[in-house]
Amino acid sequence: MLKNAPLKTLKHDGLTIEGYSRAAVQSYWRIPELKMGFDLGAHPWDFMGTPTWFITHCHLDHIAALPLYVARRRLMKMAKPKIYLPAYAIDAVRKMLDSFQRLDRGRMPCDLIGVEGGQELEISRELVVNVLKTKHTLPSVGYVISERRKKLKQKFLDLSGDQIRDLKTSGTEITEERRLPLIGFTGDTSPQGLDDNPLFYQTKILITEMTFIADDHRKELIHKNGHMHLDDFVARQKQFENEIVIAGHFSTRYNMHQARKIVTQRLPSMFDGRLKLWV
Ligand SMILES: [Zn+2]
Repeated sequence: MLKNAPLKTLKHDGLTIEGYSRAAVQSYWRIPELKMGFDLGAHPWDFMGTPTWFITHCHLDHIAALPLYVARRRLMKMAKPKIYLPAYAIDAVRKMLDSFQRLDRGRMPCDLIGVEGGQELEISRELVVNVLKTKHTLPSVGYVISERRKKLKQKFLDLSGDQIRDLKTSGTEITEERRLPLIGFTGDTSPQGLDDNPLFYQTKILITEMTFIADDHRKELIHKNGHMHLDDFVARQKQFENEIVIAGHFSTRYNMHQARKIVTQRLPSMFDGRLKLWV
Protein backbone atom coordinates (compact mmCIF):
# COMPACT_ATOMS: atom_id res chain seq x y z
CA MET A 1 0.00 0.00 0.00
CA LEU A 2 1.24 3.48 -0.89
CA LYS A 3 1.44 5.27 2.47
CA ASN A 4 0.78 8.91 1.74
CA ALA A 5 -1.40 9.62 4.77
CA PRO A 6 -1.68 8.14 8.28
CA LEU A 7 -4.22 5.37 8.58
CA LYS A 8 -5.67 3.23 11.34
CA THR A 9 -7.73 0.08 10.89
CA LEU A 10 -10.24 -1.81 13.03
CA LYS A 11 -12.23 -4.90 12.08
CA HIS A 12 -15.49 -5.65 13.86
CA ASP A 13 -18.17 -8.19 12.95
CA GLY A 14 -17.46 -8.22 9.23
CA LEU A 15 -16.91 -4.48 8.88
CA THR A 16 -13.57 -2.71 8.53
CA ILE A 17 -13.12 0.87 9.65
CA GLU A 18 -10.17 2.64 8.07
CA GLY A 19 -9.33 6.25 8.70
CA TYR A 20 -7.70 8.99 10.63
CA SER A 21 -8.74 12.30 12.09
CA ARG A 22 -7.02 15.21 13.82
CA ALA A 23 -8.66 18.54 14.50
CA ALA A 24 -7.64 21.23 12.01
CA VAL A 25 -5.35 18.74 10.24
CA GLN A 26 -7.42 16.20 8.34
CA SER A 27 -10.33 13.72 8.62
CA TYR A 28 -11.04 10.79 6.32
CA TRP A 29 -12.74 7.47 7.01
CA ARG A 30 -14.15 4.61 4.99
CA ILE A 31 -15.82 1.23 5.32
CA PRO A 32 -14.58 -0.82 2.33
CA GLU A 33 -17.26 -3.53 2.68
CA LEU A 34 -20.01 -0.91 2.32
CA LYS A 35 -18.13 0.97 -0.45
CA MET A 36 -18.76 4.22 1.43
CA GLY A 37 -16.60 6.82 3.12
CA PHE A 38 -16.93 9.91 5.28
CA ASP A 39 -15.15 13.25 4.80
CA LEU A 40 -12.33 14.05 2.41
CA GLY A 41 -9.86 16.10 4.46
CA ALA A 42 -7.03 14.09 2.91
CA HIS A 43 -7.10 11.06 0.69
CA PRO A 44 -4.88 7.99 0.99
CA TRP A 45 -4.23 6.67 -2.53
CA ASP A 46 -6.14 3.42 -1.88
CA PHE A 47 -9.29 5.27 -0.81
CA MET A 48 -9.84 6.17 -4.47
CA GLY A 49 -11.57 2.81 -4.97
CA THR A 50 -14.45 3.83 -2.70
CA PRO A 51 -17.16 5.33 -4.95
CA THR A 52 -19.57 7.02 -2.49
CA TRP A 53 -18.69 9.68 0.07
CA PHE A 54 -20.60 11.57 2.73
CA ILE A 55 -19.25 15.00 3.74
CA THR A 56 -20.29 16.30 7.16
CA HIS A 57 -19.32 19.95 6.74
CA CYS A 58 -17.11 22.19 4.67
CA HIS A 59 -14.22 23.06 6.98
CA LEU A 60 -11.06 22.48 4.98
CA ASP A 61 -9.79 19.62 7.13
CA HIS A 62 -12.91 17.69 6.06
CA ILE A 63 -13.18 18.57 2.36
CA ALA A 64 -9.81 19.78 1.00
CA ALA A 65 -9.06 16.52 -0.85
CA LEU A 66 -12.33 16.47 -2.80
CA PRO A 67 -10.81 17.75 -6.10
CA LEU A 68 -7.86 15.35 -5.76
CA TYR A 69 -10.20 12.40 -5.26
CA VAL A 70 -12.44 13.30 -8.21
CA ALA A 71 -9.45 13.87 -10.50
CA ARG A 72 -7.74 10.62 -9.45
CA ARG A 73 -10.82 8.58 -10.30
CA ARG A 74 -11.03 10.21 -13.71
CA LEU A 75 -7.32 9.61 -14.28
CA MET A 76 -7.69 5.94 -13.38
CA LYS A 77 -10.78 5.63 -15.63
CA MET A 78 -13.10 4.75 -12.75
CA ALA A 79 -16.82 5.55 -12.74
CA LYS A 80 -17.71 9.06 -11.55
CA PRO A 81 -18.20 9.16 -7.79
CA LYS A 82 -21.25 10.20 -5.77
CA ILE A 83 -20.61 12.80 -3.10
CA TYR A 84 -23.28 13.77 -0.58
CA LEU A 85 -22.78 17.06 1.24
CA PRO A 86 -24.80 19.79 3.02
CA ALA A 87 -27.11 21.28 0.41
CA TYR A 88 -26.15 24.93 0.99
CA ALA A 89 -22.60 24.18 -0.17
CA ILE A 90 -23.37 22.60 -3.54
CA ASP A 91 -22.99 25.77 -5.67
CA ALA A 92 -19.74 26.85 -4.03
CA VAL A 93 -18.24 23.36 -4.26
CA ARG A 94 -19.22 23.10 -7.93
CA LYS A 95 -17.49 26.46 -8.56
CA MET A 96 -14.41 25.25 -6.69
CA LEU A 97 -14.26 22.14 -8.89
CA ASP A 98 -14.75 24.31 -12.00
CA SER A 99 -11.79 26.44 -10.90
CA PHE A 100 -9.61 23.36 -10.52
CA GLN A 101 -10.83 22.17 -13.92
CA ARG A 102 -9.34 25.36 -15.41
CA LEU A 103 -6.16 25.26 -13.31
CA ASP A 104 -5.47 21.54 -13.73
CA ARG A 105 -6.87 21.32 -17.28
CA GLY A 106 -8.69 18.11 -16.39
CA ARG A 107 -12.39 17.37 -16.12
CA MET A 108 -13.96 16.84 -12.68
CA PRO A 109 -16.71 14.28 -13.26
CA CYS A 110 -18.79 13.61 -10.13
CA ASP A 111 -22.35 13.72 -8.83
CA LEU A 112 -22.75 16.25 -6.03
CA ILE A 113 -25.91 15.60 -4.04
CA GLY A 114 -27.14 18.10 -1.46
CA VAL A 115 -28.56 16.75 1.81
CA GLU A 116 -30.27 18.16 4.88
CA GLY A 117 -30.90 16.84 8.37
CA GLY A 118 -33.97 14.58 8.53
CA GLN A 119 -33.50 13.09 5.06
CA GLU A 120 -33.33 9.38 4.40
CA LEU A 121 -31.28 8.20 1.42
CA GLU A 122 -31.89 4.86 -0.29
CA ILE A 123 -28.39 3.82 -1.29
CA SER A 124 -29.19 0.26 -2.35
CA ARG A 125 -31.77 -2.42 -1.70
CA GLU A 126 -30.00 -3.34 1.54
CA LEU A 127 -28.64 0.01 2.73
CA VAL A 128 -30.24 3.27 3.79
CA VAL A 129 -28.54 6.35 5.17
CA ASN A 130 -30.14 8.76 7.62
CA VAL A 131 -28.90 12.34 7.52
CA LEU A 132 -28.87 13.84 11.02
CA LYS A 133 -28.46 17.52 11.84
CA THR A 134 -25.48 18.14 14.11
CA LYS A 135 -24.25 21.31 15.84
CA HIS A 136 -21.04 22.90 14.63
CA THR A 137 -19.93 26.45 13.74
CA LEU A 138 -21.38 26.12 10.23
CA PRO A 139 -24.14 23.96 8.73
CA SER A 140 -23.24 20.34 9.46
CA VAL A 141 -24.75 16.88 9.39
CA GLY A 142 -23.87 13.39 10.56
CA TYR A 143 -24.84 10.10 8.96
CA VAL A 144 -26.12 6.69 10.04
CA ILE A 145 -25.84 3.76 7.65
CA SER A 146 -28.42 1.04 8.32
CA GLU A 147 -28.96 -2.37 6.84
CA ARG A 148 -32.57 -3.23 6.08
CA ARG A 149 -33.94 -6.74 5.79
CA LYS A 150 -37.35 -8.18 5.03
CA LYS A 151 -38.41 -10.47 7.84
CA LEU A 152 -41.54 -12.56 8.25
CA LYS A 153 -43.97 -10.69 10.51
CA GLN A 154 -43.92 -11.86 14.11
CA LYS A 155 -47.59 -12.94 14.04
CA PHE A 156 -46.93 -15.35 11.14
CA LEU A 157 -43.88 -17.07 12.66
CA ASP A 158 -45.84 -20.15 13.79
CA LEU A 159 -47.57 -20.78 10.47
CA SER A 160 -46.66 -23.66 8.16
CA GLY A 161 -45.07 -23.14 4.75
CA ASP A 162 -48.40 -23.85 3.05
CA GLN A 163 -50.29 -21.33 5.18
CA ILE A 164 -47.68 -18.68 4.48
CA ARG A 165 -47.88 -19.39 0.75
CA ASP A 166 -51.68 -19.05 0.87
CA LEU A 167 -51.45 -15.74 2.69
CA LYS A 168 -48.95 -14.50 0.16
CA THR A 169 -51.06 -15.50 -2.86
CA SER A 170 -54.10 -13.85 -1.25
CA GLY A 171 -52.13 -10.59 -1.32
CA THR A 172 -51.45 -10.30 2.41
CA GLU A 173 -48.23 -8.48 3.30
CA ILE A 174 -46.38 -11.16 5.23
CA THR A 175 -43.03 -9.42 5.74
CA GLU A 176 -41.91 -6.29 7.53
CA GLU A 177 -38.72 -4.31 7.32
CA ARG A 178 -36.12 -4.56 10.06
CA ARG A 179 -33.40 -1.97 10.40
CA LEU A 180 -29.96 -2.62 11.81
CA PRO A 181 -28.00 0.62 12.31
CA LEU A 182 -24.44 -0.38 11.41
CA ILE A 183 -22.32 2.77 11.35
CA GLY A 184 -22.82 6.21 12.86
CA PHE A 185 -20.58 9.10 11.90
CA THR A 186 -21.10 12.38 13.74
CA GLY A 187 -18.37 14.52 12.19
CA ASP A 188 -17.59 17.65 14.22
CA THR A 189 -20.32 18.51 16.68
CA SER A 190 -21.11 19.77 20.15
CA PRO A 191 -22.82 17.16 22.36
CA GLN A 192 -26.15 18.48 21.12
CA GLY A 193 -25.50 16.55 17.91
CA LEU A 194 -25.62 13.31 19.91
CA ASP A 195 -28.44 14.34 22.21
CA ASP A 196 -30.72 15.45 19.36
CA ASN A 197 -30.13 12.18 17.47
CA PRO A 198 -30.34 9.16 19.80
CA LEU A 199 -29.93 6.91 16.75
CA PHE A 200 -26.19 7.60 17.01
CA TYR A 201 -26.14 5.78 20.37
CA GLN A 202 -27.72 2.68 18.83
CA THR A 203 -25.34 2.06 15.93
CA LYS A 204 -23.15 -1.02 16.03
CA ILE A 205 -20.09 1.16 15.44
CA LEU A 206 -20.03 4.87 16.25
CA ILE A 207 -17.28 7.11 14.91
CA THR A 208 -17.23 10.43 16.68
CA GLU A 209 -15.09 13.28 17.90
CA MET A 210 -13.43 13.97 21.27
CA THR A 211 -11.53 17.10 20.33
CA PHE A 212 -10.62 18.20 23.86
CA ILE A 213 -9.71 16.18 26.96
CA ALA A 214 -7.66 18.32 29.35
CA ASP A 215 -9.20 19.73 32.52
CA ASP A 216 -8.18 23.32 31.96
CA HIS A 217 -10.50 24.04 29.05
CA ARG A 218 -13.58 26.23 29.22
CA LYS A 219 -16.37 23.79 28.41
CA GLU A 220 -18.86 26.45 27.26
CA LEU A 221 -16.36 27.67 24.69
CA ILE A 222 -15.77 24.13 23.39
CA HIS A 223 -19.50 23.63 22.93
CA LYS A 224 -19.87 27.07 21.35
CA ASN A 225 -17.14 26.08 18.88
CA GLY A 226 -19.10 22.96 18.00
CA HIS A 227 -16.90 20.34 19.62
CA MET A 228 -16.93 17.79 22.45
CA HIS A 229 -14.84 17.32 25.57
CA LEU A 230 -14.04 14.12 27.47
CA ASP A 231 -16.46 15.37 30.17
CA ASP A 232 -19.33 15.05 27.66
CA PHE A 233 -18.52 11.34 27.24
CA VAL A 234 -18.26 10.81 30.99
CA ALA A 235 -21.68 12.45 31.49
CA ARG A 236 -23.28 10.28 28.79
CA GLN A 237 -21.46 7.01 29.32
CA LYS A 238 -24.65 5.06 30.07
CA GLN A 239 -26.24 6.14 26.80
CA PHE A 240 -23.71 4.63 24.43
CA GLU A 241 -25.24 1.27 23.45
CA ASN A 242 -22.72 0.86 20.63
CA GLU A 243 -20.51 -2.24 20.37
CA ILE A 244 -17.62 0.03 19.40
CA VAL A 245 -17.14 3.77 19.91
CA ILE A 246 -14.21 5.24 18.02
CA ALA A 247 -13.24 8.68 19.32
CA GLY A 248 -11.00 10.74 17.07
CA HIS A 249 -10.45 14.33 15.93
CA PHE A 250 -8.22 15.01 18.94
CA SER A 251 -6.65 18.43 19.17
CA THR A 252 -3.02 18.55 18.03
CA ARG A 253 -2.02 19.70 21.51
CA TYR A 254 -2.23 16.08 22.77
CA ASN A 255 0.01 13.20 21.74
CA MET A 256 -1.13 9.59 21.93
CA HIS A 257 0.45 8.97 25.33
CA GLN A 258 -1.16 12.00 26.95
CA ALA A 259 -4.55 11.26 25.44
CA ARG A 260 -4.59 7.66 26.68
CA LYS A 261 -3.47 8.70 30.14
CA ILE A 262 -6.05 11.45 30.57
CA VAL A 263 -8.98 9.44 29.16
CA THR A 264 -8.27 6.24 31.13
CA GLN A 265 -8.04 8.27 34.34
CA ARG A 266 -11.61 9.45 33.83
CA LEU A 267 -13.01 6.30 32.19
CA PRO A 268 -10.93 3.41 33.60
CA SER A 269 -13.09 0.72 31.98
CA MET A 270 -13.10 2.55 28.62
CA PHE A 271 -16.85 1.75 28.27
CA ASP A 272 -16.03 -1.90 29.11
CA GLY A 273 -13.41 -1.94 26.39
CA ARG A 274 -15.75 -0.57 23.73
CA LEU A 275 -14.19 2.91 23.59
CA LYS A 276 -11.25 3.19 21.18
CA LEU A 277 -9.09 6.29 20.94
CA TRP A 278 -7.73 7.04 17.51
CA VAL A 279 -5.07 9.64 18.28
ZN1 LIG B 1 -15.05 21.49 11.66
